[in-house]
Amino acid sequence: MTTDEKHVETRQEAKLFFSRFLLEWYHIQKRDLPWRRHRNPYYIWISEIMLQQTRVDTVIPYFNRFIERFPTVEALADAPEEEVLKCWEGLGYYSRARNLQHAAKQVKENYGGQVPDDRDAVFGLKGVGPYTAGAILSIAFNRPEPAVDGNVMRVLSRYFLIEDDIAKGPTRVKMEKLAAELIPEGEAGSFNQALMELGALICTPKSPRCLPCPVMEHCAARLAGCEASLPVKTKAKPPRPEERLAALVEGRGEHAGRVLIRQRPASGLLARMWELPHWPAPPAEPGGGSGALLPEAAALDRLRRSMSQAGIHARPEEHWMAAEHTFSHIVWTLQVYRCREEAVLPLAAESRAVYLAAPAGRGDSAMAVDADAAQAAAQPQAAALQADEQPALFDSGDAAADAADSGALRWINREDMANYAFPNVFLKLLNSYFEQ
Ligand code: SF4
Repeated sequence: MTTDEKHVETRQEAKLFFSRFLLEWYHIQKRDLPWRRHRNPYYIWISEIMLQQTRVDTVIPYFNRFIERFPTVEALADAPEEEVLKCWEGLGYYSRARNLQHAAKQVKENYGGQVPDDRDAVFGLKGVGPYTAGAILSIAFNRPEPAVDGNVMRVLSRYFLIEDDIAKGPTRVKMEKLAAELIPEGEAGSFNQALMELGALICTPKSPRCLPCPVMEHCAARLAGCEASLPVKTKAKPPRPEERLAALVEGRGEHAGRVLIRQRPASGLLARMWELPHWPAPPAEPGGGSGALLPEAAALDRLRRSMSQAGIHARPEEHWMAAEHTFSHIVWTLQVYRCREEAVLPLAAESRAVYLAAPAGRGDSAMAVDADAAQAAAQPQAAALQADEQPALFDSGDAAADAADSGALRWINREDMANYAFPNVFLKLLNSYFEQ
């Protein structure tokens, strides 16, 4: 036997060993997770979407609540989007929830409400990429499809000592081919879950627990003593910091005890979610970048002008607190200022914000700004603002929201919070405000 033939045989042996011992270990050690108690494709789909970028412990209560509220594909497809977002509140990556509902509508309309047992059909669902499609097809229907995510690539990189960069597309393709070859006949669902389980519990990113690992005997990285340096992964660009000025506007008169919230635009970052109004802070130094703290007086002045331009009649009073919100590409540092609602002057354009009746059953008072009126009202300030704003110097990365100051506004109290979906940072800010 040549050296090459020997190598192929050894590799083949290592593959068989891996599949067999991993599966045996999984059948004994697997965690009891709510979505593993049934083979309901809808449950599996929901859990896989929730588990993207999120830990199992965090997902469990969300999954249980979500399934209770939307027990079927039809229930999810027919629900108001606000309710779906509210159920997702705190999980982050909200486009996952919106895509999920869009895909539920596709399943309802095209497949009679049954998650299809078909590769092309599953791939065609919004928000379903190769990993999720593989997970649904293998776990729910036992199809021999690989489900390769970062955890699985880490395990395979180590066990087979693969030094290719897992951030690169061709490496993923290579890993998918390898993972497909490893699936034992008739065991696709269990095997893929076993691989995920090993990555989550044993072959963890830092300090892999090799001693209790069921495949240690043939793990090439372990044998070479280089398990800690694998997988190879080029670092993503760190998120760009961005300073923003946020307004916690406290109501007076009929709005006493309430604060003002704003709905984000229908597309883009955190689409249609609710927040405290906020705007990019200009650089502290002329020609400087976003990030350095603006002196308090300048911040108050800028916030007052931003609010005025947006048709919000309020006076910033003092810095309240700072908070951070991290996205994959950007980190907002929100400098939150307490502001007092000012009397609405019954004069000219200043008074042209339109106050609407509270929506039935909500119990809050709603204010929608007449966009044209607000724009007309703000013209002089807007012109002044534009003159010194130099937007290119502090690109917010949130242009849609910054341009959409005519978005819906609401006065809410603590009880009303249950009716609106907030990104985590605003949920925390509002909770701590109402707890005071
Ligand atoms: S032996 Fe260690 S490095 Fe190898 S697969 Fe197991 S936990 Fe990972």
